[in-house]
Amino acid sequence: MRDKEQLYVNHWYEDLYNCFSHFLQKIGSGVKTMSIFNRTKAEQSEDSAGSKHSGHISDYSEDFETAGKDNKDKSEIPEDSVVETITCSACKKEIPAEQMRKCLCVCPECGAHNKISAKRRMHSLVDPGTFRKLKCPVPFVDPLAYPDYKDKIEGLQDKTGLDEAVLLGMGEIEGHKAMIGVMGSEFLMASMGIAVGEKITHAFEIADKYKLPFIMFTASGGARMQEGILSLMQMAKTSAAAQRFGERGGLYVVALTHPTTGGVSASFAMLGDITIAEPDALIGFAGPRVIEQTIGQKLPAGFQRAEFQEEHGFVDQIVPRAEMREVLSQILRLHEKRRWPL
Ligand SMILES: [Zn+2]
Repeated sequence: MRDKEQLYVNHWYEDLYNCFSHFLQKIGSGVKTMSIFNRTKAEQSEDSAGSKHSGHISDYSEDFETAGKDNKDKSEIPEDSVVETITCSACKKEIPAEQMRKCLCVCPECGAHNKISAKRRMHSLVDPGTFRKLKCPVPFVDPLAYPDYKDKIEGLQDKTGLDEAVLLGMGEIEGHKAMIGVMGSEFLMASMGIAVGEKITHAFEIADKYKLPFIMFTASGGARMQEGILSLMQMAKTSAAAQRFGERGGLYVVALTHPTTGGVSASFAMLGDITIAEPDALIGFAGPRVIEQTIGQKLPAGFQRAEFQEEHGFVDQIVPRAEMREVLSQILRLHEKRRWPL
């Protein structure tokens, strides 16, 4: 194993120890699970401890790539695609690809919110040319030596243009700066492994460093089985990061999209100060079929859908995709620290 990978493995054991000691002490306080990336940087540089982590910082180049540098969009509807029509997942009608692109994959016939790639969603949210990807390279490690895992990841990286199942960076929404995260269901069902947990934790820390609000678009099948218990540890790690961010006054907005389930819904997806959701998104922990089999009862209509969750207090507002940018901009404006003209 290479030195860098060994360093990461050492840190996981440290995380494991921290998480368990956290559970043994008291839920909700005293967690030391910083992102490995930040700790590694701290070990490499003596002066990184705290002095730069406060106040206004205008130069973002240490933590973000320059604007417009991210790879070309290789989403499900490429601009130069030869695909002429897209089939709506709900009504099964064939919709011209160009029209689907314009509608952000919302079916013009039935209004169903079809899956949208992480990059396309990111570009639909931010002001043109303002997106700067977060610098957080996490080396690939295969802790269980899972068959074909490495090939699968490399294939998906090539196909989707993403380096992992989450795309994170800073962008402006109608002029308001924010840290934005989008999970890509096109990448292993946006399952959360070590890299995803690490990137999200690091994003919380960097959002705090620059005093940026954090907007997270979730979509996931849950923890990544190929990485075993180390995936489950990401739940504690990301939850601790969200809590620390909140304690330091950061605004955390979660947008739940279809589907948000498993370990992701049981951690950072449910910890937003404000929680919005796309129409008809499946939001829950275990799937309805598993629950029905376990409790031996028929579940109510619309169970675990966004509207049901709104009715039962899990979701603050349902926001159609076409209105998402406007609603987020309003939220950011309302929480901006400035003197209001009265
Ligand atoms: Zn449709």
